[in-house]
Parts: sequence; C-alpha cells; structure tokens
Amino acid sequence: MTLVLKIGGAAGVDAHTTDIARELAELIGQGERVVLLHGGSDLTNRLCERLGLPVRTITSPEGMTSRYTDEETLRVYAMAVAGQINTELVALLQGQGVNALGLSGVDGRVLVARRKPAVRSLLTGGRVQIIRDDYTGRIVEVNAALLNQLLDSGYVPVLAPLALGTASERLNVDGDRAAAAVAAALHAEALVILTNVPGLLASVDDPTTLLREIPARRLDDAFKYAQGRMRKKLLGAQEAISGGVARVCIGNASLHALLNGAGTTIYNQVNTVLEEMMR
Ligand code: ADP
Repeated sequence: MTLVLKIGGAAGVDAHTTDIARELAELIGQGERVVLLHGGSDLTNRLCERLGLPVRTITSPEGMTSRYTDEETLRVYAMAVAGQINTELVALLQGQGVNALGLSGVDGRVLVARRKPAVRSLLTGGRVQIIRDDYTGRIVEVNAALLNQLLDSGYVPVLAPLALGTASERLNVDGDRAAAAVAAALHAEALVILTNVPGLLASVDDPTTLLREIPARRLDDAFKYAQGRMRKKLLGAQEAISGGVARVCIGNASLHALLNGAGTTIYNQVNTVLEEMMR
C-alpha cells in the first residue's frame, strides 16, 4: 500500500509527532510505502514576528484565504519549512529507524507550480486589491518517477511545501493540497491529513459533532461547515479523490485509528464497492 501523510505544521515536533513517527516505523517495517508532507505556517508566523515582518492574508473573492507571500516572506517561509521543520522531522524519523530523506518540492522538480502574476484580494469593506508580488502557487506537476525511485530504494521522502515555479522561482504551496497532489500522482490508497482537531466538526467548538464519514459526492455539502484552513483540507480531499485516491482521513488520532475511521473519512464510493466485490 502507498500512503501519503500530511503532518500539520502547528506546534512543530511534539509528543504526538513522536508517536506518529513510531507508528510510521512499524508500517514501513511491514512494507508500506510512505511519503510525508508537512506544513509550517505557525513557525513562519513566529519567525516573521521576530524579524519584524507583517503577517498578511489574502482572501480570494471566493472566500479562500492564503498567506500573502512577498519576496521577503518567501525567504522566511523557506527557512521555516525547508530549513527547520523538514530537517527536524527527518532527524526524528531517523531516530526511529526510518530512512527518511528530506526534500523541498524545488529539489529535482518534485513539485512544480504555477504562480498567478496578479491575484485579487478582498479587503474589509468589500474593496478588491490587486496584488502582483505574491509568490504562492498551484501545483501543476509532481515528479512521481523520482518519488517512486526513492521509495523503491527504501527511502521515506519527507517533503517541504515549497515548489519550483514555471519561471524557476520558489513558490509557497499549500501543504494539504500538495499532499493531495502527491497522493494522486503516486496512486496512493490513502491520504491521511493530521491536524489539531478530531476531524471536520459540524460545530467547530464541539468535538462531539464530528462528521465521521463523507462520501466524496457529498463533499460539496460538507464545505458549509468548514472555515479557514479546514477548507483547504476539504479541497485537498476533493482533489485527491478526483485524482484516484480511495480515501482521505482527517483528524488528530493515531495513524492506526485514523485509518480505521476515528476521524473524518472521505471516501470514493466506487472504490469501496469495488473493494467489497474483490473480497
Ligand atoms: P494544521 O496546521 O494542523 O494543518 P489547521 O490549523 O491548518 O491545521 O486547520 C485546522 C483548523 O481548522 C482547526 O484548528 C480549526 O480551527 C479550523 N476549522 C474551521 N472549521 C472547522 C470545522 N468545521 N471543523 C474542524 N476544524 C475547523
């Protein structure tokens, strides 16, 4: 089985990440192929604050939010995701006996993205601002051949969410959607998105309102519950499923529990029916 795992960048490496690393070591020992992707937005915010740079957000007219990544912010972002978080995760996994290999999407064109030369951002009051120096991109290509070569050689690729732009610039890409693109490109059986909440909640402050199972065709309805960064996770789930991934699990439980339905599982019904027929 090929599994793509996205680790939230919220608190950096904490006790939960260490537990996950242990579980990963076990899964890999059983012959699973695993690619890891991580985030880094909280550390980027903290570094920006320390360096006296503003943390700004772009809100698209469709209501999606993303980091306003001008040239200077991009440098800080690269320091956070490729410099700090990636190497820390690789070291943690190596400590668990996992032969992790850290890369950012820029290396070997693992992730190629396209940047919009002008983006529209909604300002409070409804005015629209045009921004021309945003280095955020949307993934257009994944170097699956390279990832497969690494996996075949026994490495566990750990990817930082930086992509190579079509004009050879570095771009900030969303970690959840990058993980989805990688899962689709590798024809992964599952994409697991770890986060700091139990999954998609019908009421964001109430963990008892967890939505456990969402068939992919009902995903459009589920968007009404999600705000902020949870919307990116659902968008990622949608992209992974339409790219052929059978299921996407979102939550904060153990890997084993999430793969067994403890969080929110978004699944492609066609695959589920096929799986049952094959049994
Ligand atoms: P990570 O950094 O781990 O990737 P994020 O902070 O990006 O996680 O995304 C998860 C956040 O999405 C939660 O902390 C929560 O505040 C927010 N959120 C918004 N709407 C929902 C919802 N309906 N259910 C769960 N979380 C939600």
